[in-house]
Amino acid sequence: MNPPALRESRSVCPYCGTGCGVLIEHDGERILGVRGDPEHPANFGQLCSKGMTLAQTVHGSGRATVPLQRVAEETWQQASWEQSMGQIATRWAEIYRDRGPQALAFYVSGQLPTEDYYVVNKLAKGFLGTNHIDTNSRLCMASAVTGYKRSLGMDSVPCSYEDLERTDCLFIVGANVAYAHPIIFRRIEAVKAQRPELRIIVVDPRRTATASIADLFLPILPGTDVALFHGILHLLIWNDRLDTDFIQQHTEGWQELKQRVQEYTPQRVAELCQIAEADLQRAAEFFATSPAVLSLWCQGLNQSAHGTDNNVALINLHLATGQIGRPGAGPFSLTGQPNAMGGRETGGMPALLPGHREIANGEDRAAIAELWGVETLHPEPGYTAVPMFQALERGDLAAIWITCTNPVLSLPDRQQVERALRTAEQVVLQESYLDGETMPFAHWLLPAASWGEREALVTNSERRISHLQAAVPPPGSARPDWQIFCDFAHALALALDRLSVPLPDRKDDSWQQRALRMFSFRDTASIFAEYRRCTIGRDLDIGGLEIAILDRQGPQQWPFPVGAKSGQVRLYANGIFPTPSGRARFHAPVHLGVAEEIDARYPLRLTTGRLRDQWHSMARSGRAASLFASAEEALLAIHPQDARQYGLQEGQLVRVESRRGAALYRLQCDDSLQRGLLFVPMHFGSRYSPAALCNSVTQAAIDPYSGEPEFKHTAVRISAAELPWEAAALVEDDTRDLSAILRQLAQGFPYASITPLVSKHGAAVLLRVAAAQAPEAELAQRWDAALALFGPDTLLYEDPRQGLSKRLRIRGGRLTGLRLWGGLQTLDWLRQLLLEGTAIDAFRLALLAPRVPDNLGAWERSRGICACKGVDEKTIRQVIANGADTLEGVMQCCGAGTECGSCKPEIQQLLQSRLAEAS
Ligand code: SF4
Repeated sequence: MNPPALRESRSVCPYCGTGCGVLIEHDGERILGVRGDPEHPANFGQLCSKGMTLAQTVHGSGRATVPLQRVAEETWQQASWEQSMGQIATRWAEIYRDRGPQALAFYVSGQLPTEDYYVVNKLAKGFLGTNHIDTNSRLCMASAVTGYKRSLGMDSVPCSYEDLERTDCLFIVGANVAYAHPIIFRRIEAVKAQRPELRIIVVDPRRTATASIADLFLPILPGTDVALFHGILHLLIWNDRLDTDFIQQHTEGWQELKQRVQEYTPQRVAELCQIAEADLQRAAEFFATSPAVLSLWCQGLNQSAHGTDNNVALINLHLATGQIGRPGAGPFSLTGQPNAMGGRETGGMPALLPGHREIANGEDRAAIAELWGVETLHPEPGYTAVPMFQALERGDLAAIWITCTNPVLSLPDRQQVERALRTAEQVVLQESYLDGETMPFAHWLLPAASWGEREALVTNSERRISHLQAAVPPPGSARPDWQIFCDFAHALALALDRLSVPLPDRKDDSWQQRALRMFSFRDTASIFAEYRRCTIGRDLDIGGLEIAILDRQGPQQWPFPVGAKSGQVRLYANGIFPTPSGRARFHAPVHLGVAEEIDARYPLRLTTGRLRDQWHSMARSGRAASLFASAEEALLAIHPQDARQYGLQEGQLVRVESRRGAALYRLQCDDSLQRGLLFVPMHFGSRYSPAALCNSVTQAAIDPYSGEPEFKHTAVRISAAELPWEAAALVEDDTRDLSAILRQLAQGFPYASITPLVSKHGAAVLLRVAAAQAPEAELAQRWDAALALFGPDTLLYEDPRQGLSKRLRIRGGRLTGLRLWGGLQTLDWLRQLLLEGTAIDAFRLALLAPRVPDNLGAWERSRGICACKGVDEKTIRQVIANGADTLEGVMQCCGAGTECGSCKPEIQQLLQSRLAEAS
């Protein structure tokens, strides 16, 4: 029989909001590879390290394939779809009957495609009558939404990626674009190379990889963004650099703002932000003298207890200078998730309705009620994410349906979230992956089809809608999320009729009739057709956009009304804004600082953020071993002088503690941080670094308008973790799911990290643990048994007096597994031998030595820099030492950065620091 033919399906990367087009190579059963779609206008064929490894993340163990019911603490039982839907629906119907719809809630995700968002919103608000539906976009984009709405009248991003190529000044604030949106950064790099006169200002408390390209870097104190923007505006006024015509004709509220910014003198702002006054002057000069200024921002502005203020204060600058609605100009918020924008369009938030409509607006409610065929919609906005879980803990909510998100790891104040989920009468988790941190709290797990396994529609940061084709079937009985919601609506209707629960109006004779009328969607196209009707006449009108057009003409930006030939590149070119007066609004917030100031007990500032090669809670990116090379463990970064001040050393385990809880990290000294600031990645959870969950420490302070939590600043203290005893195991991963076994072995240790690694012969997994004192010696034998490190092909060294023990497995003349107990002096050496598949027959007994024998050379572990080419930091440093003194020179010498280019900013940083040292 001939092997199945290979073919390609068009899709979009499911990670960040850049929305890069990908072509999936597959045989109809398995995804075999991906490449960037050369025709997609977001990326023109390029992909970053995460996108490049997508094919590794789809198949294999750890996928949810059948519905599961938790029957005891850690015991799950398979169920059919019919059983699970029937049982869940019965419980939800009882809650509805006894407590009403306001006891029911949904918590969904910015990764859900548009059709899923539309259907679940219709289910919650239209069918059940609860507005308690929020999305994890609350944690990243909500402040940008409220900022746009308050300033411009609608949540509509006015700019496009092509503005990157047409701007004269990029003002990048609170966004590590090089890590979080690498392909956008590639575009910026290309423009800068072509037009070195392009001015780039980067504002960030950390000197991130993005700052490597900056002409001006402003390392402001966390929480001083409003002061900075007011300070720039103050200078623009003082130097007569405003666009007074634009202010007069197209805005309102100027006088109040003008008065407000009088207080923000350059000297005061420089003090508040802790930057040089001359740098502030220079930023204002750049802004004032550049023909076109484009601002880019992301979570640095949004994840703040004053995130909306940060947004409106930045937009003020664009309005005051008329830098909006023109090529290369405007306030451009970068979206964190692949379809956060689609969620906003379809009303997937508690105060919204489809088509950028508001729950609180009677006309908007009436329009959608008519479209959905119900009498009325509930007029009160529902709970946003943080209050939703607080209501769950109080018992005001009884049941929650969580879809495609992991709140136990991603919401702030993890302890509270866990209490809330334990209190809930029913937690339904609809997921594609098993073993997320939320799964132990769920009563039901429903398997959802994932990327590549279903058709979908998504909208990226620049309002561009793409159509994703299905490439392969979902595993087991997993289904698209919209289909699960529709199935549930029908099951719920049956249960409500059985319990004789009356309908809220007379539009239907029974719940079942209503469900049949509202949820008989056949496919994505039928949902999209209904959703499009919600947009007609609105600012995001896509009445003229059909899936066939997307397939024929490629991805399109909204609006795309009936009769349009293509989407609209830029908004507000005519200076008319979707406010009642048609004018944009200035707002005049005051600088309020951070929600939790540092003090004598918690004297350090902790900020959180993304790594280059991981994404969110690592459910998908954690399945690609090569993505761990640049960050094997959750590290806490500290300025070297702060480390010295606290008597801490690079590589030691430290405890970081806030008023709410503590977490353990390995310490990394990093002079890109300002003094007094610590940084931890947001990604790691119980699967990879069980003690390093940053939301054990972060706070639930939220912005009053957007409800977005302040992830970017927490007052903390730091101390040595005092865990001197260490052990490790590194085993080649064959057909078994070794990570799961290693997770079991890690239990009971106060610190552990589990790291998938790439070896010459495939894959390997590393476990490291630490404790205050040595555990019972028999535990080492139990590790050996669990990891098959026993038998004639193993060597054993034991020194009971020193408490040291070492077990090595040698097969085919090379090391294939090891376990070190009580000391890790030889770990880096042995690890390298194992991963590189080195022939060790010539020195096999030397492997048992407690230290690396001198005659076998020096061994030093080095951080991976280039995930695509497998080049580490040591190699790059060597290349620089050998004379490479340009980025291109380094790339040419060692190959790093020549594939996806995601590591180029780090190579540049290494180069800059080495050249600075040398001079
Ligand atoms: S920049 Fe990277 S992660 Fe983001 S969409 Fe493109 S390939 Fe995916």
